[in-house]
Amino acid sequence: MSADSTVSGPGSTNPGSTKITPGLAGVPEEVDLVVIGLGVTGTGVALDAVTRGLSVLAVDAHDLAFGTSRWSSKLVHGGLRYLAHGQVGVAHESAVERGILMEVTAPHLTHAMAVLVPLTSSVSAFQAGLTRAGFLAGDVLRRSAHTDRETLPRPRRISATETLNLVPGLRRDGLRGGLLSWDGQLEDDARLVTTIARTAATAGAHVRTRARVLSATGTEVRLRDELTGAGRAVAARAVVNATGVWAGDLVDEVRLRPSRGTHLVLRAEALGGPRVSVTVPVPGSTSRFVFVLPQADGTVYVGLTDEPVEGDIPDVPEPSEAEIGFLLDVISAAFARQLRREDVVGSYAGLRPLLDTAGGGTADLSRKHAVLTSGSGVVTVVGGKLTTYRQMAEDAVDAAVDHAGLDVGPCRTRTLPLSGAAPRAELARLELPERLVRRYGTDAALVLASAREVTGLGDEELLAPVASGVPVTLAELLFGVTHEGAADVDDLLDRRTRVGLVPADRERALPAAERALALAGVGTS
Ligand SMILES: Cc1cc2nc3c(=O)[nH]c(=O)nc-3n(C[C@H](O)[C@H](O)[C@H](O)COP(=O)(O)OP(=O)(O)OC[C@H]3O[C@@H](n4cnc5c(N)ncnc54)[C@H](O)[C@@H]3O)c2cc1C
Repeated sequence: MSADSTVSGPGSTNPGSTKITPGLAGVPEEVDLVVIGLGVTGTGVALDAVTRGLSVLAVDAHDLAFGTSRWSSKLVHGGLRYLAHGQVGVAHESAVERGILMEVTAPHLTHAMAVLVPLTSSVSAFQAGLTRAGFLAGDVLRRSAHTDRETLPRPRRISATETLNLVPGLRRDGLRGGLLSWDGQLEDDARLVTTIARTAATAGAHVRTRARVLSATGTEVRLRDELTGAGRAVAARAVVNATGVWAGDLVDEVRLRPSRGTHLVLRAEALGGPRVSVTVPVPGSTSRFVFVLPQADGTVYVGLTDEPVEGDIPDVPEPSEAEIGFLLDVISAAFARQLRREDVVGSYAGLRPLLDTAGGGTADLSRKHAVLTSGSGVVTVVGGKLTTYRQMAEDAVDAAVDHAGLDVGPCRTRTLPLSGAAPRAELARLELPERLVRRYGTDAALVLASAREVTGLGDEELLAPVASGVPVTLAELLFGVTHEGAADVDDLLDRRTRVGLVPADRERALPAAERALALAGVGTS
């Protein structure tokens, strides 16, 4: 396998500590495997391949987590919804991968999330029975995946008083209790991607943002450095296309038609401060639900929709006013307070891939992933979920090494902790700021130490919220630049942190992002 070369990040206090950098300067002319796209799938492929002993170049036209991976519901699904469609294999795979993330590879970035179905007058005894049976089936899935009950407790029925204690903002009339179950929730989807990328880079992968692939075959990619406009070719023994809904732009045989899923961002107060997530049935439907998902930063996401998208695939999809109105109406019917358009402090949309199949129909890849090898030898991996990224990456690398006849070791990612991972008990004992532990695990110490070293500032300044009501800290922004390849304020505000999900907060955090770039010695853009 070819040798590795070290590239240090801008402003890094420790040259060679990061290999996530923008542009193409210094990339090798030849590697074992090129992976195109740095969403959860592409970063997963980079980590899988580099830890099997391959030399890897992993690139994105924009930034880490620029595409669909940052527009998710941030859940680590157990697969219950797939059981409801009779897809037992997909459900089991989801439950297994959820367990791996929560117990082995990323306990620091995941936690158990209680899911409440309020039993209101519009939920019949029969529907309540069905939901309860579904939750019990979900618990069977958990057990079959060998996920501990300590990690995800058993579902149970709760009283109306306990229901209102957990979600005080619910409508009270006709409420006769609730059904409570547990699933996994991510600290943040883009943070998962960034952590996988950093783990891959630490293992020796060359991870490059602002590097667009213009064309690819199974043995060569032609790239454009989006910073300089310069073109260049890199030879490879295998090429994996992990460009999500854009996969068809590089490989003609892959035809995708996306569908849009929209979420709203509200302040928790607008819904009376829910302490658990809530599943609200869409009136008149027995199979559609809207989810209320509280986040650690004091916001709540409400989603999601399913709207076909025609024409070109946008870089950043936009929610429509009709979707926003629909979500507000469904939630207002379940909560005591009528929500207004002004309650929406942010909104975002992501695209699910629909694959045009050879038979002329379509297959919804948002449940199952596909690995396809093109005539020119490019392996495309598309569909699936954040939850199953590791299995997707394993399948894609298996296909790539088979096709190229590479002699590599077995996949190692099932037992390989991501950077900063540790057992929950160990994380709980860390005497470091809680927010940093939640986002970086044991690397919280590194985040703080490197921020001190780069700036010479004291902890009070490094750890203070960058603006009132905006919990992001200068230490995190600095780490984004020194260790996570952030090159401008957009990378920092929209991907390394998610303050950009609330435009008004983004505005207030902007000076801190500019300061972090300046302190780390990177010009702002
Ligand atoms: C609304 C919604 C909610 C979801 N919620 C969940 C959830 O809660 N839990 C869950 O498990 N899953 C969820 N999913 C599924 C999950 O988000 C996706 O399956 C996953 O993020 C797809 O990741 P990806 O890496 O394949 O694609 P992407 O994240 O889209 O990454 C593709 C990357 O390729 C890059 N790229 C494109 N063209 C080029 C090129 N020519 N050269 C270089 N780079 C290029 C893009 O910039 C992009 O960064 C959700 C999906 C949607 C749509």
